[in-house]
Amino acid sequence: SQTLAAAVTDGLEAIAALLASKEAELGDLDAVAGDGDHGIGMHKGSAAAARTARELLAQQAGAQTLLSGAGAAWSDAAGGTSGALWGALLTAVGGVLGDQAKGDDQAVSRALQAGLDAVVRLGGATVGDKTMVDALAPAVDAYLAASEPAKAKLDALAAAQRGAESTKDLVAKLGRARPLGERSLGTPDPGATSLVMVLEELASRI
Ligand code: ADP
Ligand code: MG
Ligand code: MG
Repeated sequence: SQTLAAAVTDGLEAIAALLASKEAELGDLDAVAGDGDHGIGMHKGSAAAARTARELLAQQAGAQTLLSGAGAAWSDAAGGTSGALWGALLTAVGGVLGDQAKGDDQAVSRALQAGLDAVVRLGGATVGDKTMVDALAPAVDAYLAASEPAKAKLDALAAAQRGAESTKDLVAKLGRARPLGERSLGTPDPGATSLVMVLEELASRI
């Protein structure tokens, strides 16, 4: 059967393919009140992460080594705020999985929590600031609160979707979007939107 590191690499490649196809949509969202580069950043960052993961897998790297390399590559290639945040998120997920582990239900919830913690530690956003945290935080809460493991994934995804949707009614306060924050009213946050896209892809695979 497949190693965890190989599954992570396949997942990153699927995310990169998805985000390549969403580049224009995410760029248009970011152009409403930001600088319009979220699509290109997510595309370039995820592509670099997937390439690096594939190289590290060929060198027999475990999941942690692979994800921290992929995270650094994402951050470097994407530039921008979200690139740094996604880099930190991947590295934190790797820290939970370790280089030897097989991956289990517990691993998913701990990985989600560690990813959120890393984003909050680096970016300082809280729910309501109109960022990716508005989708990620409720997803983590819903995953942990699910009554049965089989429901956790779908509950988390639904919560992320509702969270991203809720950002339409908010004015951006952090990052590049801030100077033109008022213009963002009525448009969902680009980073929350792309986070939901990634979770949808992952939920279809695990
Ligand atoms: P930049 O803002 O540097 O151009 P991107 O356009 O790629 O970077 O990413 C913008 C997204 O990053 C926002 O839509 C938001 O979701 C997210 N973001 C910005 N600042 C923060 C922050 N401090 N904490 C969490 N997420 C943030
Ligand atoms: Mg931008
Ligand atoms: Mg930018």
